[in-house]
Amino acid sequence: MLIVKKFGGTSVADKERIFNVAKRCIEDYQKGNDVVVVLSAMGKMTDVLIEQAKEINPNPPKREMDMLFTTGEQTSVALMGMAMAALGVPAISLNAFQVQMHTTSVYGNARLKRIDSERILNELEQRKIVIVTGFQGIDKFDNYTTLGRGGSDTTAVALAAALNADACEIYTDVEGVYTADPRKVKNARKLKEITYDEMLELATLGAGVLHNRSVEMAKKYGVQLVVRSSLNSAEGTVVKEEVKMEKMLVSGVAADKDVARIALIGLKDEPGVAFRLFNHLARHNINVDMILQSVGRDNTKDISFTTNVDSADEAIEIIERHFKEYDRIDSEKNVAKVSIVGAGMMSNAGVAAKMFEALYDEGINIRMISTSEIRVTVLIDEKYVERAMNAVHDAFALGDA
Ligand code: ASP
Ligand code: MG
Repeated sequence: MLIVKKFGGTSVADKERIFNVAKRCIEDYQKGNDVVVVLSAMGKMTDVLIEQAKEINPNPPKREMDMLFTTGEQTSVALMGMAMAALGVPAISLNAFQVQMHTTSVYGNARLKRIDSERILNELEQRKIVIVTGFQGIDKFDNYTTLGRGGSDTTAVALAAALNADACEIYTDVEGVYTADPRKVKNARKLKEITYDEMLELATLGAGVLHNRSVEMAKKYGVQLVVRSSLNSAEGTVVKEEVKMEKMLVSGVAADKDVARIALIGLKDEPGVAFRLFNHLARHNINVDMILQSVGRDNTKDISFTTNVDSADEAIEIIERHFKEYDRIDSEKNVAKVSIVGAGMMSNAGVAAKMFEALYDEGINIRMISTSEIRVTVLIDEKYVERAMNAVHDAFALGDA
Protein backbone atom coordinates (compact mmCIF):
# COMPACT_ATOMS: atom_id res chain seq x y z
CA MET A 1 0.00 0.00 0.00
CA LEU A 2 1.08 3.57 -0.65
CA ILE A 3 0.06 5.78 2.28
CA VAL A 4 0.22 9.58 2.45
CA LYS A 5 0.29 10.83 6.04
CA LYS A 6 0.03 14.53 6.86
CA PHE A 7 0.91 15.99 10.25
CA GLY A 8 0.06 19.54 11.29
CA GLY A 9 2.18 22.01 13.24
CA THR A 10 1.16 20.91 16.74
CA SER A 11 2.01 17.30 15.87
CA VAL A 12 5.65 18.24 15.19
CA ALA A 13 5.96 21.08 17.70
CA ASP A 14 8.90 19.66 19.66
CA LYS A 15 11.48 16.88 19.77
CA GLU A 16 9.25 14.41 21.57
CA ARG A 17 6.40 14.88 19.09
CA ILE A 18 8.73 14.65 16.11
CA PHE A 19 9.91 11.25 17.34
CA ASN A 20 6.35 10.25 18.04
CA VAL A 21 5.39 11.05 14.42
CA ALA A 22 8.53 9.33 13.12
CA LYS A 23 7.57 6.15 14.98
CA ARG A 24 4.02 6.17 13.64
CA CYS A 25 5.35 6.46 10.10
CA ILE A 26 7.96 3.76 10.66
CA GLU A 27 5.25 1.38 11.91
CA ASP A 28 3.49 1.58 8.55
CA TYR A 29 6.79 1.37 6.70
CA GLN A 30 7.84 -1.77 8.53
CA LYS A 31 4.59 -3.46 7.56
CA GLY A 32 5.88 -3.18 3.98
CA ASN A 33 3.97 -0.06 2.93
CA ASP A 34 5.33 2.85 0.92
CA VAL A 35 5.07 5.91 3.14
CA VAL A 36 4.99 9.57 2.08
CA VAL A 37 4.85 12.07 4.94
CA VAL A 38 3.70 15.68 4.50
CA LEU A 39 4.56 18.12 7.28
CA SER A 40 3.57 21.62 8.33
CA ALA A 41 5.93 24.05 10.02
CA MET A 42 6.56 23.30 13.70
CA GLY A 43 4.03 24.70 16.18
CA LYS A 44 3.24 28.37 15.52
CA MET A 45 6.31 28.85 13.33
CA THR A 46 4.41 30.37 10.43
CA ASP A 47 2.99 33.07 12.75
CA VAL A 48 6.47 33.70 14.13
CA LEU A 49 7.79 34.20 10.60
CA ILE A 50 5.04 36.73 9.90
CA GLU A 51 6.01 38.64 13.04
CA GLN A 52 9.68 38.58 12.05
CA ALA A 53 8.89 39.85 8.59
CA LYS A 54 6.77 42.70 9.92
CA GLU A 55 9.59 43.86 12.18
CA ILE A 56 11.75 44.36 9.12
CA ASN A 57 9.07 45.67 6.79
CA PRO A 58 5.42 46.17 7.78
CA ASN A 59 4.46 45.57 4.17
CA PRO A 60 6.81 42.82 3.00
CA PRO A 61 7.00 41.93 -0.71
CA LYS A 62 4.80 38.88 -1.21
CA ARG A 63 7.51 36.98 -3.03
CA GLU A 64 9.91 37.37 -0.13
CA MET A 65 7.15 36.45 2.30
CA ASP A 66 6.70 33.11 0.52
CA MET A 67 10.47 32.62 0.39
CA LEU A 68 10.45 33.07 4.16
CA PHE A 69 7.41 30.83 4.76
CA THR A 70 9.05 27.91 2.97
CA THR A 71 11.78 27.79 5.64
CA GLY A 72 9.18 26.72 8.22
CA GLU A 73 8.18 23.54 6.43
CA GLN A 74 11.75 22.95 5.29
CA THR A 75 12.90 22.90 8.92
CA SER A 76 10.33 20.33 9.96
CA VAL A 77 11.00 17.92 7.08
CA ALA A 78 14.77 18.07 7.64
CA LEU A 79 14.39 17.42 11.38
CA MET A 80 12.01 14.54 10.63
CA GLY A 81 14.58 13.06 8.25
CA MET A 82 17.14 13.26 11.05
CA ALA A 83 14.76 11.65 13.55
CA MET A 84 14.11 8.73 11.22
CA ALA A 85 17.84 8.34 10.59
CA ALA A 86 18.37 8.29 14.36
CA LEU A 87 15.82 5.47 14.53
CA GLY A 88 17.77 3.61 11.85
CA VAL A 89 15.23 3.93 9.03
CA PRO A 90 16.14 5.19 5.55
CA ALA A 91 14.31 8.44 4.85
CA ILE A 92 14.72 11.51 2.69
CA SER A 93 13.23 14.98 2.96
CA LEU A 94 12.21 16.90 -0.17
CA ASN A 95 10.98 20.44 -0.67
CA ALA A 96 8.63 21.73 -3.36
CA PHE A 97 11.46 22.49 -5.73
CA GLN A 98 13.03 19.07 -5.40
CA VAL A 99 9.71 17.33 -5.95
CA GLN A 100 8.60 19.86 -8.56
CA MET A 101 5.23 20.87 -7.20
CA HIS A 102 4.02 23.40 -9.74
CA THR A 103 1.55 26.11 -8.80
CA THR A 104 0.11 29.32 -10.17
CA SER A 105 2.13 32.49 -9.48
CA VAL A 106 -0.18 33.97 -6.87
CA TYR A 107 2.10 34.48 -3.88
CA GLY A 108 0.46 33.59 -0.60
CA ASN A 109 -2.52 31.97 -2.28
CA ALA A 110 -1.20 29.80 -5.10
CA ARG A 111 -3.04 26.81 -6.52
CA LEU A 112 -1.38 23.50 -7.26
CA LYS A 113 -1.34 22.70 -10.97
CA ARG A 114 0.87 19.66 -11.36
CA ILE A 115 3.10 17.48 -9.20
CA ASP A 116 5.94 15.43 -10.67
CA SER A 117 5.76 12.00 -9.10
CA GLU A 118 9.05 10.70 -10.53
CA ARG A 119 11.46 11.74 -7.78
CA ILE A 120 9.16 10.52 -5.01
CA LEU A 121 8.50 7.20 -6.73
CA ASN A 122 12.25 6.72 -7.22
CA GLU A 123 12.94 7.26 -3.56
CA LEU A 124 10.09 4.94 -2.55
CA GLU A 125 11.48 2.35 -4.94
CA GLN A 126 14.70 2.46 -2.88
CA ARG A 127 12.58 1.72 0.20
CA LYS A 128 12.92 5.16 1.75
CA ILE A 129 10.27 7.04 3.66
CA VAL A 130 9.75 10.27 1.72
CA ILE A 131 9.10 13.42 3.78
CA VAL A 132 7.66 16.33 1.80
CA THR A 133 7.16 19.99 2.73
CA GLY A 134 3.49 20.96 2.90
CA PHE A 135 2.06 24.38 2.00
CA GLN A 136 4.73 25.34 -0.58
CA GLY A 137 5.10 25.12 -4.35
CA ILE A 138 7.04 26.67 -7.21
CA ASP A 139 5.76 28.75 -10.08
CA LYS A 140 6.92 28.50 -13.69
CA PHE A 141 9.86 30.83 -12.99
CA ASP A 142 11.00 28.65 -10.06
CA ASN A 143 9.87 31.16 -7.46
CA TYR A 144 8.57 29.67 -4.24
CA THR A 145 4.87 30.12 -3.64
CA THR A 146 2.57 29.10 -0.78
CA LEU A 147 -0.96 27.74 -0.87
CA GLY A 148 -2.62 29.90 1.80
CA ARG A 149 -2.77 29.33 5.55
CA GLY A 150 -3.49 25.72 6.42
CA GLY A 151 -2.42 24.68 2.92
CA SER A 152 -0.46 21.56 3.92
CA ASP A 153 -3.70 19.56 3.89
CA THR A 154 -4.03 20.44 0.22
CA THR A 155 -0.45 19.35 -0.47
CA ALA A 156 -1.22 15.98 1.10
CA VAL A 157 -4.39 15.43 -0.91
CA ALA A 158 -2.71 16.53 -4.14
CA LEU A 159 0.16 14.13 -3.51
CA ALA A 160 -2.25 11.31 -2.75
CA ALA A 161 -3.99 12.01 -6.06
CA ALA A 162 -0.75 12.35 -8.05
CA LEU A 163 0.75 9.16 -6.57
CA ASN A 164 -2.54 7.28 -6.74
CA ALA A 165 -2.16 6.52 -3.04
CA ASP A 166 -4.24 3.86 -1.31
CA ALA A 167 -4.82 6.04 1.75
CA CYS A 168 -4.54 9.69 2.73
CA GLU A 169 -4.46 10.30 6.46
CA ILE A 170 -4.62 13.79 7.94
CA TYR A 171 -3.29 13.80 11.50
CA THR A 172 -4.24 16.70 13.72
CA ASP A 173 -4.66 17.67 17.37
CA VAL A 174 -8.33 16.63 17.50
CA GLU A 175 -9.68 13.11 17.05
CA GLY A 176 -11.62 13.82 13.88
CA VAL A 177 -14.55 15.82 12.61
CA TYR A 178 -17.13 16.59 15.29
CA THR A 179 -20.82 17.42 15.14
CA ALA A 180 -19.73 20.79 16.62
CA ASP A 181 -16.66 22.32 18.25
CA PRO A 182 -16.32 20.30 21.49
CA ARG A 183 -14.91 23.35 23.27
CA LYS A 184 -18.22 25.15 22.68
CA VAL A 185 -20.86 22.45 22.55
CA LYS A 186 -20.90 20.07 25.47
CA ASN A 187 -22.66 17.18 23.72
CA ALA A 188 -20.49 17.32 20.59
CA ARG A 189 -19.61 13.92 19.23
CA LYS A 190 -17.08 12.61 16.74
CA LEU A 191 -18.53 11.57 13.37
CA LYS A 192 -17.50 8.23 11.87
CA GLU A 193 -18.06 9.49 8.34
CA ILE A 194 -18.95 12.66 6.51
CA THR A 195 -19.45 13.46 2.81
CA TYR A 196 -17.14 15.74 0.83
CA ASP A 197 -19.95 18.24 0.36
CA GLU A 198 -20.76 18.43 4.06
CA MET A 199 -17.08 18.72 4.91
CA LEU A 200 -16.68 21.45 2.33
CA GLU A 201 -19.49 23.47 3.90
CA LEU A 202 -18.06 22.93 7.37
CA ALA A 203 -14.50 23.80 6.26
CA THR A 204 -15.74 26.97 4.57
CA LEU A 205 -17.74 27.88 7.66
CA GLY A 206 -14.54 27.88 9.65
CA ALA A 207 -14.84 24.51 11.37
CA GLY A 208 -11.05 24.53 11.21
CA VAL A 209 -10.30 20.82 10.78
CA LEU A 210 -9.36 20.82 7.10
CA HIS A 211 -8.25 23.42 4.57
CA ASN A 212 -11.28 23.83 2.31
CA ARG A 213 -9.29 23.53 -0.91
CA SER A 214 -8.02 20.15 0.27
CA VAL A 215 -11.63 18.95 0.47
CA GLU A 216 -12.41 20.37 -2.97
CA MET A 217 -9.44 18.51 -4.35
CA ALA A 218 -10.29 15.28 -2.54
CA LYS A 219 -13.79 15.42 -4.04
CA LYS A 220 -12.49 16.19 -7.52
CA TYR A 221 -10.01 13.32 -7.56
CA GLY A 222 -11.99 10.93 -5.36
CA VAL A 223 -9.32 10.78 -2.66
CA GLN A 224 -10.83 9.25 0.46
CA LEU A 225 -9.50 11.04 3.56
CA VAL A 226 -9.19 10.02 7.16
CA VAL A 227 -8.92 12.78 9.76
CA ARG A 228 -7.47 11.51 13.03
CA SER A 229 -5.41 12.41 16.07
CA SER A 230 -1.63 12.35 16.05
CA LEU A 231 -1.66 11.98 19.83
CA ASN A 232 -3.62 8.74 20.20
CA SER A 233 -4.85 5.87 18.07
CA ALA A 234 -8.58 6.70 18.10
CA GLU A 235 -10.30 5.86 14.83
CA GLY A 236 -10.95 9.27 13.30
CA THR A 237 -13.45 10.42 10.67
CA VAL A 238 -13.60 9.24 7.07
CA VAL A 239 -14.39 11.91 4.48
CA LYS A 240 -15.84 10.45 1.28
CA GLU A 241 -18.39 10.75 -1.49
CA GLU A 242 -21.29 8.86 0.05
CA VAL A 243 -22.06 8.03 3.59
CA LYS A 244 -24.07 4.92 4.38
CA MET A 245 -23.75 4.45 8.09
CA GLU A 246 -24.97 7.77 9.36
CA LYS A 247 -27.45 9.16 6.93
CA MET A 248 -28.40 12.03 9.16
CA LEU A 249 -30.57 15.01 8.46
CA VAL A 250 -27.97 17.27 9.98
CA SER A 251 -24.34 16.27 10.55
CA GLY A 252 -22.89 19.31 12.19
CA VAL A 253 -23.26 22.79 13.62
CA ALA A 254 -20.62 25.43 12.94
CA ALA A 255 -20.14 29.04 13.92
CA ASP A 256 -18.10 31.91 12.57
CA LYS A 257 -17.56 35.04 14.64
CA ASP A 258 -15.34 36.83 12.11
CA VAL A 259 -18.31 38.37 10.41
CA ALA A 260 -19.54 41.93 9.96
CA ARG A 261 -22.90 43.10 8.67
CA ILE A 262 -23.19 46.16 6.45
CA ALA A 263 -26.56 47.64 5.54
CA LEU A 264 -27.31 50.29 2.95
CA ILE A 265 -30.57 52.06 3.61
CA GLY A 266 -32.63 54.01 1.11
CA LEU A 267 -31.31 52.69 -2.18
CA LYS A 268 -33.28 53.53 -5.33
CA ASP A 269 -35.56 50.64 -6.28
CA GLU A 270 -34.44 50.33 -9.91
CA PRO A 271 -32.46 47.90 -12.09
CA GLY A 272 -28.67 47.95 -11.79
CA VAL A 273 -28.32 49.09 -8.18
CA ALA A 274 -27.21 45.73 -6.80
CA PHE A 275 -24.93 45.21 -9.77
CA ARG A 276 -23.13 48.52 -9.21
CA LEU A 277 -22.79 48.03 -5.47
CA PHE A 278 -21.40 44.50 -5.58
CA ASN A 279 -19.30 45.18 -8.65
CA HIS A 280 -17.36 47.85 -6.78
CA LEU A 281 -16.77 45.42 -3.95
CA ALA A 282 -15.78 42.59 -6.28
CA ARG A 283 -13.31 44.81 -8.13
CA HIS A 284 -11.59 45.40 -4.80
CA ASN A 285 -11.61 41.69 -3.97
CA ILE A 286 -14.04 42.02 -1.08
CA ASN A 287 -15.79 38.71 -0.54
CA VAL A 288 -19.47 39.09 0.21
CA ASP A 289 -21.35 36.29 1.85
CA MET A 290 -25.01 36.59 2.90
CA ILE A 291 -27.09 39.13 0.97
CA LEU A 292 -30.53 40.36 1.92
CA GLN A 293 -32.64 42.82 -0.03
CA SER A 294 -35.80 44.30 1.41
CA VAL A 295 -39.06 44.66 -0.47
CA GLY A 296 -39.20 48.01 -2.26
CA ARG A 297 -41.33 50.70 -0.64
CA ASP A 298 -41.88 54.27 -1.93
CA ASN A 299 -39.32 53.53 -4.64
CA THR A 300 -36.59 52.74 -2.18
CA LYS A 301 -35.15 49.54 -0.78
CA ASP A 302 -32.42 48.40 1.60
CA ILE A 303 -29.63 45.91 0.96
CA SER A 304 -27.64 44.29 3.72
CA PHE A 305 -24.79 41.85 3.38
CA THR A 306 -22.03 40.26 5.40
CA THR A 307 -18.26 40.24 4.88
CA ASN A 308 -15.32 38.99 6.84
CA VAL A 309 -14.79 41.32 9.77
CA ASP A 310 -11.30 42.18 8.51
CA SER A 311 -12.68 43.49 5.22
CA ALA A 312 -15.53 45.49 6.72
CA ASP A 313 -13.79 48.87 7.07
CA GLU A 314 -12.37 48.63 3.59
CA ALA A 315 -15.78 47.66 2.20
CA ILE A 316 -17.40 50.70 3.81
CA GLU A 317 -14.68 52.96 2.51
CA ILE A 318 -15.11 51.62 -1.03
CA ILE A 319 -18.86 52.15 -0.87
CA GLU A 320 -18.50 55.69 0.43
CA ARG A 321 -15.93 56.56 -2.18
CA HIS A 322 -17.41 54.88 -5.28
CA PHE A 323 -21.06 54.07 -4.75
CA LYS A 324 -22.99 56.95 -3.14
CA GLU A 325 -26.49 55.80 -4.24
CA TYR A 326 -27.98 55.44 -0.74
CA ASP A 327 -29.20 57.53 2.20
CA ARG A 328 -27.42 55.93 5.06
CA ILE A 329 -24.96 53.16 5.83
CA ASP A 330 -25.19 51.08 8.94
CA SER A 331 -22.72 48.43 10.10
CA GLU A 332 -21.97 46.17 13.02
CA LYS A 333 -19.12 43.85 13.81
CA ASN A 334 -20.50 41.98 16.82
CA VAL A 335 -22.50 39.50 14.78
CA ALA A 336 -21.82 35.84 14.07
CA LYS A 337 -23.00 33.11 11.75
CA VAL A 338 -24.36 29.84 13.04
CA SER A 339 -24.93 27.11 10.47
CA ILE A 340 -26.26 23.60 10.30
CA VAL A 341 -24.94 21.30 7.59
CA GLY A 342 -26.30 17.97 6.42
CA ALA A 343 -26.64 16.08 3.14
CA GLY A 344 -29.89 14.64 4.49
CA MET A 345 -31.71 17.98 4.59
CA MET A 346 -31.91 18.11 0.81
CA SER A 347 -34.87 15.74 0.80
CA ASN A 348 -36.46 16.81 4.07
CA ALA A 349 -38.84 19.65 4.76
CA GLY A 350 -38.84 21.36 8.11
CA VAL A 351 -35.13 21.34 8.87
CA ALA A 352 -34.81 25.13 8.77
CA ALA A 353 -37.99 25.55 10.81
CA LYS A 354 -36.63 23.26 13.48
CA MET A 355 -33.46 25.33 13.72
CA PHE A 356 -35.46 28.56 13.96
CA GLU A 357 -37.64 27.06 16.67
CA ALA A 358 -34.58 26.13 18.74
CA LEU A 359 -33.36 29.72 18.50
CA TYR A 360 -36.80 31.09 19.32
CA ASP A 361 -36.92 28.92 22.46
CA GLU A 362 -33.70 30.59 23.56
CA GLY A 363 -35.06 34.05 22.76
CA ILE A 364 -32.37 34.61 20.13
CA ASN A 365 -33.25 36.97 17.31
CA ILE A 366 -32.30 36.05 13.73
CA ARG A 367 -30.87 38.97 11.76
CA MET A 368 -30.32 37.32 8.37
CA ILE A 369 -30.82 33.87 6.85
CA SER A 370 -29.16 32.14 3.94
CA THR A 371 -29.39 28.57 2.70
CA SER A 372 -27.85 26.14 0.27
CA GLU A 373 -29.01 22.61 -0.59
CA ILE A 374 -27.24 21.18 2.42
CA ARG A 375 -26.86 24.17 4.76
CA VAL A 376 -28.91 26.71 6.71
CA THR A 377 -27.08 29.75 8.10
CA VAL A 378 -28.41 32.42 10.42
CA LEU A 379 -26.79 35.66 11.47
CA ILE A 380 -27.21 36.45 15.15
CA ASP A 381 -25.77 38.63 17.88
CA GLU A 382 -22.25 37.39 18.61
CA LYS A 383 -22.84 37.11 22.33
CA TYR A 384 -25.39 34.32 21.84
CA VAL A 385 -23.23 32.09 19.65
CA GLU A 386 -22.51 29.34 22.13
CA ARG A 387 -26.05 29.26 23.44
CA ALA A 388 -27.35 29.06 19.89
CA MET A 389 -24.95 26.27 18.95
CA ASN A 390 -25.89 24.18 21.97
CA ALA A 391 -29.61 24.73 21.45
CA VAL A 392 -29.50 23.81 17.78
CA HIS A 393 -27.20 20.85 18.44
CA ASP A 394 -29.63 19.50 21.02
CA ALA A 395 -32.69 20.16 18.87
CA PHE A 396 -31.33 17.81 16.21
CA ALA A 397 -30.10 15.36 18.85
CA LEU A 398 -26.65 15.40 17.27
CA GLY A 399 -25.02 14.27 20.47
CA ASP A 400 -26.86 10.93 20.44
CA ALA A 401 -25.11 8.38 18.28
N1 ASP B 1 2.39 26.22 8.11
C1 ASP B 1 1.30 26.71 7.32
C2 ASP B 1 0.34 27.47 8.23
O1 ASP B 1 0.57 27.60 9.42
C3 ASP B 1 0.60 25.66 6.55
C4 ASP B 1 -0.11 24.59 7.35
O2 ASP B 1 0.10 24.50 8.56
O3 ASP B 1 -0.89 23.84 6.78
O4 ASP B 1 -0.64 27.98 7.76
MG1 MG C 1 -4.39 22.81 9.63
